[in-house]
Amino acid sequence: MNYDIIIVGSGISGAVIAQSYAEKLNKKVLIIEKRDHIGGNCYDFYDDAGILVSKYGAHLFHTNYEKVWKYVHKFSDFSKYEHKVLAKVDGKLVPVPVNITTVNMLLGTNIKDEKEMDKWLLENQIKNDDPKNGQEAALSRVGKVLYEKIFKNYTKKQWDKYPEELDASVLNRIPVRNNFDGRYFSDKYQGQPKEGYTKLFEKMLSHSNITVRLNTDFFDIRDTLNSYERLFYTGPIDQFFDFKHSVKDKLEYRSIRFEFETYDKKHFQKNSVINYPNEEKFTRIVEYKYFTGQTSPKTTISKEYSVDYLPGVNDPYYPVPNPKNNEIFTKYQNEARQLEKNCIHFVGRLANYKYFNMDEAFKNALDLFYSLNPEVDKS
Ligand code: UDP
Repeated sequence: MNYDIIIVGSGISGAVIAQSYAEKLNKKVLIIEKRDHIGGNCYDFYDDAGILVSKYGAHLFHTNYEKVWKYVHKFSDFSKYEHKVLAKVDGKLVPVPVNITTVNMLLGTNIKDEKEMDKWLLENQIKNDDPKNGQEAALSRVGKVLYEKIFKNYTKKQWDKYPEELDASVLNRIPVRNNFDGRYFSDKYQGQPKEGYTKLFEKMLSHSNITVRLNTDFFDIRDTLNSYERLFYTGPIDQFFDFKHSVKDKLEYRSIRFEFETYDKKHFQKNSVINYPNEEKFTRIVEYKYFTGQTSPKTTISKEYSVDYLPGVNDPYYPVPNPKNNEIFTKYQNEARQLEKNCIHFVGRLANYKYFNMDEAFKNALDLFYSLNPEVDKS
């Protein structure tokens, strides 16, 4: 059978492109997916204890983009869920991002309001309007003491690099609060798909024009694919080009190893996510029940260990933004741009080598679709 649109990967970007071409332009779409399931790293499933867990780590939806919020609601209802994170530091569980409680608990201060917190910040922040790396970014937000307690070692564990070896953007993901707001994100819209992410993806891909071929590696069949209108690739960009610019230094990605454990008790820990910046080998423990509000006498957690990505061995999760990787990526990006005239497009976190959130992945894929098809009604 002939397809108009070929998509490599069924994560957010692939699913948005597929859904849009199928529904808006009545195109026949083929998705090629290496894994045995759809949904990319958002994939969730019910484990042996009957708990809905995410195979590839916690996914929390939050956005300020009204159009993205509207788009995801076409495929699922969302429960109200505002994410909070605690970090275990000096034997105490403190809020992250840093807020008044964090400072009071870790430094024994007695800050009572925004005015006093602003004063504390002013005295402690190492101000920098143009931080050149993650260390400068974090120091300019929280100052030296909290940087060392919460950010320095966590970052080393997470990236196998110290903050000064990473772009400022990585640490700039975490704000600092001058109040008691303990939410991880401050976006206008926050919530979780009521029946989970996999169900949301199933709905997105349920159009009769869409065929998904699971357990199929694009690189095994790419030579057989020729008569299509457009091809969208969402995998790692270096692999598409057979790693040709990675001879001396490879383009780095980080991967995660998960250790799942089920316990015969209602809860394992007092919050959905607890970060371990310092002592443990894992970066965080996630207890999934908190995201869904599921009731059960059992609970499942996963410990996340950050590891190098090794092609063929594990999966890439995070690009590693720093000057060296950005330079290698630019070489691939220049080649990718050349291929646009052949109707081959690179979309998503891995193909764009950008550390963006789920909502940005939805937005970028929607924007790409509408920029390629400006005649289509955007509603
Ligand atoms: N980070 C940290 N300590 C924390 C939380 C975050 O040092 O307790 C740093 C770390 O470098 C991390 C980055 O901030 O990679 C971004 O954190 P985020 O929670 O956005 O990471 P993700 O959820 O994408 O893994």
